[in-house]
Amino acid sequence: MTEFSDLRKNMVVNQIAARGVRSETVLSAMRKVPRERFLPEGLAEFAYEDSPLPIEADQTISQPYIVAFMTEALALRGGEKVLEIGAGSGYAAAILGETASEVYTIERIEELARSAAATLADLGYKNVEGRYGDGTLGGPEQAPFDGIIVAAGGPTIPESLKQQLKIGGRMVIPVGKDKSIQELIRITRVSESEFQTEDLADVRFVPLVGAEGWEAEPAAGKATKPAQSGLAPDSEDDWLRSEIADACEPFNSIETANLDPLLERIGDAQVVLIGEASHGTSEFYKLRSRITSELISKKDFRFVAIEGDWPDAARIDHYVRHFDFPPSEWTAFSRFPTWMWRNNDVREFVDWLRIHNAGQSADQRVAFHGLDLYSLYSSIRSILKYLDEVDPATAEIARTRYGCLTPWQADPATYGRAALSGSYRSCEKEVIHMLMELTKKHREYAEHDGERFLDAVQNARLVANAERYYRVMYYGSRESWNLRDGYMFETLQTLRRFYPPGSKAIIWAHNSHIGNAAATEMSARGETNIGHLCREEFGKDAFSIGFGTHNGTVAAASDWDGAMEIKDVQPSVRGSYEKLFHDVGLSGFLLGLRHLPAGRLRDALLKPRLQRAIGVIYRPETELASHYFQAALQKQFDEYIWIDKTQAVQPFDTAELEGLPDTYPFGL
Ligand code: SAH
Repeated sequence: MTEFSDLRKNMVVNQIAARGVRSETVLSAMRKVPRERFLPEGLAEFAYEDSPLPIEADQTISQPYIVAFMTEALALRGGEKVLEIGAGSGYAAAILGETASEVYTIERIEELARSAAATLADLGYKNVEGRYGDGTLGGPEQAPFDGIIVAAGGPTIPESLKQQLKIGGRMVIPVGKDKSIQELIRITRVSESEFQTEDLADVRFVPLVGAEGWEAEPAAGKATKPAQSGLAPDSEDDWLRSEIADACEPFNSIETANLDPLLERIGDAQVVLIGEASHGTSEFYKLRSRITSELISKKDFRFVAIEGDWPDAARIDHYVRHFDFPPSEWTAFSRFPTWMWRNNDVREFVDWLRIHNAGQSADQRVAFHGLDLYSLYSSIRSILKYLDEVDPATAEIARTRYGCLTPWQADPATYGRAALSGSYRSCEKEVIHMLMELTKKHREYAEHDGERFLDAVQNARLVANAERYYRVMYYGSRESWNLRDGYMFETLQTLRRFYPPGSKAIIWAHNSHIGNAAATEMSARGETNIGHLCREEFGKDAFSIGFGTHNGTVAAASDWDGAMEIKDVQPSVRGSYEKLFHDVGLSGFLLGLRHLPAGRLRDALLKPRLQRAIGVIYRPETELASHYFQAALQKQFDEYIWIDKTQAVQPFDTAELEGLPDTYPFGL
């Protein structure tokens, strides 16, 4: 196992210095303080992950980067007196202890105040004093301070703290009218009465509770209990549960659930977006397939487009539409996370679609496409293969142009870092030129075959977008997320233009892509998604369906590129939509949200609550911090489908497919 000290060094290089923290004092403090010592038992192995983690009493230890960033923002020179509000685990106080000469840290939860003080004493921090109390009032006995750090978010800047700053002193504090998201602000006291403020970043901290902060929640006296489930239903929600039970359409089995009312609510929508609350839950896939096949059979939908890459889906498309040109050599969905699409539920749907299409004329066959952009290199291969056949001279040019990207074949993400740091020139011009050239040749190539031309152009578009995606990935997650979802939306538009006017589309992607981003905390971070873009473009003609579950099992990895594991899904936490729906006591139901009449049920489902999202990675150990976010359900989805207990998808590997015809899309 790697030593903590190595992990710590890597953390400083990759998470802290790489994001622009330059102060040598701060970097050396971060290299020194053992974060693992400040964590609850069982979480030590996550100590150097790039994230906040839960600690006792339902609080969090901040992300290492944010601790470094806030400390650097105080611009200490050595020898100062500093106050911290919100000791939590005591970790940030230890970092301050390394950078200032006198540190006071206040914590309002007694249990935490005590254990933070004990950890700091164990580690020998004689210059750090921990106290139990309300930090919004500051530390009048020790004031004034050269620096104040507030590690919890309040509605305003507490006046007492401002008054305890020395002239020239700085305070760093998250402030926001919404409890779940704040702006990190730096205040510098310029004179007795003058303060300068600067906005530093969007952040998310636990609430600052006290005389000059938020009021304690009614249950705050018991706030020392970590959020957990298996708890009794919340009696406040009694009426709400019974109204949900009245409004929903219960079902006991996926195979027999009556979908007619849902189909009626979908009406003439042109684009139906069907979500999933995890990338590895069988029931979500099964019910999604059922809804999709009914939409195809009864409402004439023209294509399905998934959160998978174009060339992978093209391989499936070739199979389900019985194309007669030779299939590509590409093995569909053989890249991490393979189980997301290479599983029995998807295979059943693919087989159904192939049989359905066999009875249709070629131009009526339902297509299967991919919207995502991770397959940079297989897309390049497909373009070259196509050009070799139809235009070998252009194929040569394409080889040279795309050559720009080949040194990064093994790890396209590194390309982004290299392009940004200037150590390698960006390939942007080359890939854009290639795309333009291909599009210009439209008429010339069209005589060969429209479908195959679409395939090549779409691959070239993917390469151009992926090049940008990998480049901006290093500016921060906001731009790269938006670029990826923007690309998915553009691909949808390209497909709608390619097929005859009025062709209807079904999208399969995670809830976090297809739910309206404007209804979740994503929008506060400046993020959009395909669900939001579709609402803006198609209005009522876009219809989105979200899914949720309480517990069971899920197929997921612990790390990116890690092996698939079958993990237990933790019971949902108090305060979440999932816990509310679990307490309704039904094994499954459909809940139409779009036309809920005005009234208290609609209002209650518009109130932001926690919602769980499991992707290809699932970390039950840090679930509250890493998998829950705030959402307003009624605004997020047009329909919500609840399945209380769910099971992991069953992936299959190529060996299992022996004996099947060579053309089988997953097997090649
Ligand atoms: N700096 C901490 C993380 C703090 S989390 C660390 O490194 O681990 C924020 C903490 O602020 C919580 O423990 C919360 O209980 C505390 N808090 C909230 N309001 C407070 C107040 N008015 N006074 C003191 N502490 C407060």
